[in-house]
Amino acid sequence: MNLGIEGKWALVCAASKGLGKGCAQALVEEGVHVVITARGAEALQATAAELRALNPAVQVRAVAGDITTPEGRAAALAACPQVDILVNNAGGPPPGDFRDWTRDDWIKAVDANMLAPIELIKATIDGMAERGFGRIVNITSGAVKAPIDVLGLSNGARSGLTGFVAGLARQVRVASRNVTINNLLPGVFDTDRVRGMAKGTAAKTGQSVDEIVAGRAAGLPARRLGTAAEFGATCAFLCSAQAGYLTGQNVLIDGGSYPGTF
Ligand code: NAD
Repeated sequence: MNLGIEGKWALVCAASKGLGKGCAQALVEEGVHVVITARGAEALQATAAELRALNPAVQVRAVAGDITTPEGRAAALAACPQVDILVNNAGGPPPGDFRDWTRDDWIKAVDANMLAPIELIKATIDGMAERGFGRIVNITSGAVKAPIDVLGLSNGARSGLTGFVAGLARQVRVASRNVTINNLLPGVFDTDRVRGMAKGTAAKTGQSVDEIVAGRAAGLPARRLGTAAEFGATCAFLCSAQAGYLTGQNVLIDGGSYPGTF
């Protein structure tokens, strides 16, 4: 299927690795020009080179910076001639017990996983509406639908974003202008983040990281972790011309892990 977005410009945040990178790859394969961001310049430049090799016809711009800061967002926006597609993403907050979290811990989580995406939406959505095309995809988490006890910071901050965009997506001045906003909710994907968390468990249990990852996979209906490519393909579809009537939704991509009917 041709997704009808060739030549559009996308800002894909936190995209040197993992799910963000999967989204950038899928968009580049569709002929979308991309601005990618991440904090570490080295991994970011390596990813930019991979993307250019994937489709030499598109422009790939890499902007190193922290997307949770005003400076990081300003630099990313300045590099993008116009934002037709916005993929909001940032690192997730650490696990823990809420009894140990300070106000600062909460502010950091809310800044990264709620306010940073809202600021980027604010900076781009009116331009999208004027031009009559816009696709916003927020990478959130399956934890929004089925909270994960130790990820309380994520459960809370991402639910705040979800509630906010549910209202915004339904504004007539947004929906009637072919601007959609959807959230993509990952279950368990094989990325550095998941392997990094497995490393923490490995240090406590003496198992290897691979054993822990295999153990997680064994507990999932799909019996495997998701791939960044699968995630990216779903993101690209949400950004497609064909998905213009799909808005305000929370799309779970989790290999059947969520146990509910709806
Ligand atoms: P990852 O660690 O593999 O990759 C994260 C990417 O984001 C890297 O490129 C990193 O450089 C970049 N990044 C992190 N913080 C940034 C910041 N402040 N500014 C700019 N770039 C930043 O992580 P991932 O597994 O791809 O996860 C992406 C998001 O999805 C996270 O918020 C994570 O909590 C969430 N999530 C992931 C899973 C999963 O199974 N992988 C499940 C649920 C939710």
